[in-house]
Amino acid sequence: MARSGPPAASPAPEGLLTPLQFLKGVGPQRARQLQRLGLETVEDALYFIPFRHEDRTRLTALSALEPGKTQSCAGTVVGISPPPRGRQRLPFSVMLRDATGYATASWFNAPYLERVFARGQRVVLHGKVVRYRGAIQIQHPDYEIVEAGEDERIHSGRLVPIYHQTEGVGQRALRALMWRVVEAHAGDVADPLPEAVRARRQLPGLADSLRNAHFPPAEEALRTARRRLAYDDFLVLQLGLGILRARTSRARGIAMKPRGELARRLRAALPFALTAAQDRVWSEIRTDMAAPSPMHRLLQGDVGSGKTVVAALAVATAVEAGYQAAVMAPTEILAEQHFMTFQQLLAPLGLPIALLTSAVKGRERAGRLKAAAEGELACVVGTHALVQEGVEFRRLGLAVVDEQHRFGVEQRARLRAKGEHPDLLVMTATPIPRTLALTLYGDLDVSVLDELPPGRRPVVTVARTEGKRPQIYEFLREQVTAGRQVYVIYPLVEESAALDLKAATEMAEHLRKDVFPDLAVGLLHGRMSFGEKDEVMRRFKAGEIHVLVSTTVIEVGIDVPNASVVLIEHAERFGLSQLHQLRGRVGRGPWKSYCILLTGESPGEEARERIAAMTETTDGFKIAEADLRLRGPGEFFGTRQSGLPQFRVADLLRDAPILEPARQDALGIIAADPELRAPEHRGLRHALLSRWRGKLDLASVG
Ligand code: ADP
Ligand code: MG
Repeated sequence: MARSGPPAASPAPEGLLTPLQFLKGVGPQRARQLQRLGLETVEDALYFIPFRHEDRTRLTALSALEPGKTQSCAGTVVGISPPPRGRQRLPFSVMLRDATGYATASWFNAPYLERVFARGQRVVLHGKVVRYRGAIQIQHPDYEIVEAGEDERIHSGRLVPIYHQTEGVGQRALRALMWRVVEAHAGDVADPLPEAVRARRQLPGLADSLRNAHFPPAEEALRTARRRLAYDDFLVLQLGLGILRARTSRARGIAMKPRGELARRLRAALPFALTAAQDRVWSEIRTDMAAPSPMHRLLQGDVGSGKTVVAALAVATAVEAGYQAAVMAPTEILAEQHFMTFQQLLAPLGLPIALLTSAVKGRERAGRLKAAAEGELACVVGTHALVQEGVEFRRLGLAVVDEQHRFGVEQRARLRAKGEHPDLLVMTATPIPRTLALTLYGDLDVSVLDELPPGRRPVVTVARTEGKRPQIYEFLREQVTAGRQVYVIYPLVEESAALDLKAATEMAEHLRKDVFPDLAVGLLHGRMSFGEKDEVMRRFKAGEIHVLVSTTVIEVGIDVPNASVVLIEHAERFGLSQLHQLRGRVGRGPWKSYCILLTGESPGEEARERIAAMTETTDGFKIAEADLRLRGPGEFFGTRQSGLPQFRVADLLRDAPILEPARQDALGIIAADPELRAPEHRGLRHALLSRWRGKLDLASVG
């Protein structure tokens, strides 16, 4: 939950900034408990929106409970059965009665309930109804004990808010507090939204929306309230991104308009023609580079769509215009891979290029730093080592950032700060659902490579369990016999890197000795030196290794078209986008290719869904949507590290329909009033300053 802004930046009347402790009935202890929920001031509490509402206008009679449904009901406790001594695995049960009949509620692993329930209490329950041994049972319900003398308008007979809780603060106590806060203070909130915008989008006022988001009179009021609050989150975000973008496009950058000789020679040397998508995207980038304002462009393209060549064309163009280029990748292996690819493409044109990662040390490092600073290097490829202090360029004109979602706004800004308004090209191989692209890259123009090079066939993807291992080995052998090559992938989980390494090493040994004694089995892992990895990759590319056992270091970037099978061990341990990246290692040649997802006998539910998504589609955008759905937006992108303000209410999935209108409005407002100086935008300006804090300024460096 976001805090309110510093007082100086907020137009909020005193009342909103009142610490909760000053409210009647909130003592120091309660205040500390509320702090654990992120609630310090009245304003925090107003924006502490319930995560769901329970319809208690329609409590189900106990005799009418239906197995299979999730329902709410109420009754009087008539019996309590803790699990018998020594049989703690049995549930704790409570028998309830109402005018129509009886039902049992049961909880596993909940001995503390003995201190909660007592005969004669009235309770309200919400949970899943099942039939168990012929009787109706509600399993693991949420419960509330109804106490005498409470304000029943709040807790029953209406849509009742259910809040996230913290230890020591009961649902009812929290709800009663929220009721008082909303009653007393929702009206203090100034609505920052210009009346015209509000009317056009048919959004309710802010005060009403806050009231109804907590204690709605009906479903419809709740829906529009949430819509309004989500709109505000989106608007503030899009306004900030829009301001950043407007500043960038007003900034004086470098107009790079060389004759295009180097790019032409690079294209001529390629063993293939560009796809129509590559052609289109390249011309978008070229136009940006030629323009006098700095390029600020995101290049999205599925695995294998050919982003590297496009980036190389941009590098060649910058160099021909007399500038240097920097290419930043998130991992050492990817930086190394890029370095090799760029060298292959650019060295024949006579462009000096160097690698800079933390693995490059001592004299070598000093030499490369000097060459970059003096402008001798045309292009430096590296990891985030590139943005560290001490790395300088004489004339940095182009910054390329690969796998952007692993970098934040800040790192992006720091790389650009190595030059004077250099052009920026951000590439991502994780296609981003449109909602997210707008949210996180609202300050970038977007190009999409929506076409794979010709001849690619979808990778046949299957899920298998351990029992099928002998048949899988048989299949791998058939493929190798037919002339193909094979990857066997092991997960590399950071906290147990050593263990996983052991597993991969042992597996390579086992395959070499026992399974494929007649084949060449290689091993690749992150602890090897650049030279060692390079040598293994070179031999694999040359076809001297048939079966390559690898940790996930090969996740991105590796390109061996003759490889036709990727066998992923412990597939349940991988994230969806990672699985998709790994699958992208095959299907790069004209052969039918396979991805085999090997799991234990019973992977968890989420793992099963990930694996199902993989077997159902090879479309990176669909995979990304599924990933977003399964993990939620925060996890998906690590929004924390993105450096953007957090949403207070909006949920990218649920509220997606209001995102585009909010973006349109933000663009309109900024076009008319770039720094929000007009009187009718005063409220928005305050909201923006307080929600973005210092970030608007920081980010404007980029
Ligand atoms: P990614 O977008 O995943 O970075 P790459 O740039 O690594 O994709 O390209 C994947 C493979 O496709 C490489 O082997 C590359 O040489 C090849 N490739 C790129 N563009 C084309 C094209 N237009 N026609 C045929 N092959 C291409
Ligand atoms: Mg790539």
